[in-house]
Amino acid sequence: AGDVVTASRILKELKSGCDTPLPVLRRVADAMADDMRAGLASDHSGSDLKMILSYVNALPTGNEKGLFYALDLGGTNFRVLRVQLGGKDNRVIDTEFEQVSIPQELMFGTSEELFDFIASGLASFVEKESERFYLPSGRKREIGFTFSFPVNQTSIDSGILIKWTKGFAVSGTAGKDVVACLNEAMERKGLDMRVSALVNDAVGTLAGARYWDDDVMVAVILGTGTNACYIEQIDAVPKLLSPASGYGRTIINTEWGAFSSGFPLTEFDNDMDNESINPGEQIFEKTIAGMYLGEIVRRVLLKMSKFADLFGKYFPEKLSTPFVLRTPDLCAMHQDDSEDLSEIGKILNATIGTTSSTLEARKITMDVTDTIVKRGGRLAGAGIVGILQKLDQDSRGLVFGKRLVVAMDGGLYENYPQYRNYMKGAVNELLGPELSKNVIIEHTKDGSGIGAALLAAVNSKYI
Ligand code: ADP
Repeated sequence: AGDVVTASRILKELKSGCDTPLPVLRRVADAMADDMRAGLASDHSGSDLKMILSYVNALPTGNEKGLFYALDLGGTNFRVLRVQLGGKDNRVIDTEFEQVSIPQELMFGTSEELFDFIASGLASFVEKESERFYLPSGRKREIGFTFSFPVNQTSIDSGILIKWTKGFAVSGTAGKDVVACLNEAMERKGLDMRVSALVNDAVGTLAGARYWDDDVMVAVILGTGTNACYIEQIDAVPKLLSPASGYGRTIINTEWGAFSSGFPLTEFDNDMDNESINPGEQIFEKTIAGMYLGEIVRRVLLKMSKFADLFGKYFPEKLSTPFVLRTPDLCAMHQDDSEDLSEIGKILNATIGTTSSTLEARKITMDVTDTIVKRGGRLAGAGIVGILQKLDQDSRGLVFGKRLVVAMDGGLYENYPQYRNYMKGAVNELLGPELSKNVIIEHTKDGSGIGAALLAAVNSKYI
């Protein structure tokens, strides 16, 4: 029976193929730090990490005052928010927000249609501004615009859309300045506002968290996709030829989803990548982010049921459909602590259409889930340490040894306790007990909305 393919043998191979012991984590953290340096040196270094300049050269201090708006477009919803800032003592005096879902047809329409819809939503939100909010006469309302698609930033308030992602296929925006698109739409609606800052969600999260805590140096998003940004010394950015005067630091957007060095990949990862809409790209994201973890597990279970009868002779047809198993399903299965794993059985029935499963099959499903989620969480942790270690080495040891905060956001981090624990475990293993005492990893709920408004305040034309 030596050559018989069994599910437990596939599992065993999977586990060894996804293993991330300390030396692997270390290699990943080192590679992250090296790629960061290469990306900072030049835009033509060939580094996976683009290390995009955010043009955020001044950070919120807490002294910001006045009424500011934020507009967030990053998925199937857009959110608008207003905040009345009261300075050091009063901080956030009041805030209000609204969320509007974007009709499916607008995701496939023209640029004008989409931006007109957004401008209308913003206009009706502005109309409802109550007396609790106050704008000095003669001033325009200023907006921080969070736009979470790949943009070539050209200044703090302009950026060219490289391409739509996340299911958007809007015609006529790529290659254009998205702030200009919004401004033109606002003009068509007779809405007299000014975009003072264009940021992505990681940068917004960093600014929002930093407002409350001066020790925040890094922000990481773990949601459908993943990204990280951090505060860098201007003189550590060789590709910045004419450094902005006055400030010694800037936020760098790593776009770390594109990282690809030093971590273990399996046949399942390679197949998923080959069949994706962007083969060869975003490999780190495809290994650690929410959009993909469920899909990797589905591919393993598919092989196990095709070649090793994981679910008996009856083959669950739905298991052949890409993305039927979603990361929230993995998370729900992972919480099953019953002896007979009955919850896993129910979820398998509901998602891939099994009619029954053996306890052995449910145990294997749990093991596969744990293996993929463990690798994802631990690699995310190694990535974070890579950033911290780069900062520490380049400042000759001035980073570690004092309190340092990593601000986290995103649905995967927020909702998946095992993922979070694996991530933190890897950070602690890499840093050791002494250094990890000073590194605080904390969730910033909705930091990015307020963060964008704060960056509008910091970059206000009235100061
Ligand atoms: P975005 O799509 O902008 O990244 P979020 O930060 O809210 O939005 O992240 C949503 C993602 O978080 C989902 O695509 C999913 O992968 C993950 N997620 C949401 N809920 C859960 C959950 N209960 N368990 C695990 N992952 C989840």
